[in-house]
Amino acid sequence: MDDEKTLLVIEDEPAILRFLRPSMEDMGWRVVEATTGRMGLELASSKKPAVILLDLGLPDGDGLDVLKTLRQWTSVPILIISARGQEKDKIAGLDMGADDYLTKPFGIAELMARLRVALRHAENRSEDAPPMYEREGLKVDLVARRVTLRKKDVRLSPQQYDLLAVLVRNAGRVVSHKQLMKEAWGEDRVVTPESVRIFVHQLRHKIEPDPVRPRCLKTEPGVGYRLEAPDEKE
Ligand code: CA
Repeated sequence: MDDEKTLLVIEDEPAILRFLRPSMEDMGWRVVEATTGRMGLELASSKKPAVILLDLGLPDGDGLDVLKTLRQWTSVPILIISARGQEKDKIAGLDMGADDYLTKPFGIAELMARLRVALRHAENRSEDAPPMYEREGLKVDLVARRVTLRKKDVRLSPQQYDLLAVLVRNAGRVVSHKQLMKEAWGEDRVVTPESVRIFVHQLRHKIEPDPVRPRCLKTEPGVGYRLEAPDEKE
């Protein structure tokens, strides 16, 4: 089966490896394991994985160093797997070019959802942004710059729209505060995480039927925001 995709797991915890291999093989993936960063780097180049799962606490060093080295030569999707409470490391990882992260313990459904988004994003990397985002009655047309909720026009300020557009382009993936500020406001504008929070709050009131229980624009505590992946089209 040549079209089998390879998943490289760089992780030293036996429990995670025991759980991942059978589940992923059931899903048709070939699983390659590395229990040190050094082995991970070697296998990343020899096995040409379609996706890499990277633990941050490795026996021979920091996973962030492995990430840094990988990003010098490959754009393969990399998902960080790390423990709760390592928000700082997750942010550093995203800033260093990781595609997303999973917090341990995670389920196979969550992993598959993240993988699908990372792979789709990798495929689209060279193409234009998807012209239409649809979820839960919300529609965003980046070409026409038009936003509707349950078929009614939503009026956004230019800044609110720019913020939403960044999230749409990254739909399904976490966007860090830093990335949001850089992409929605630009490098030379002074903006704080607090003002991003206020804009997100305003945006939720316009695009979420129930802004207190958002269905689309989710907060990733301590890290940033995630616009949930669009509804699957039949
Ligand atoms: Ca570890």
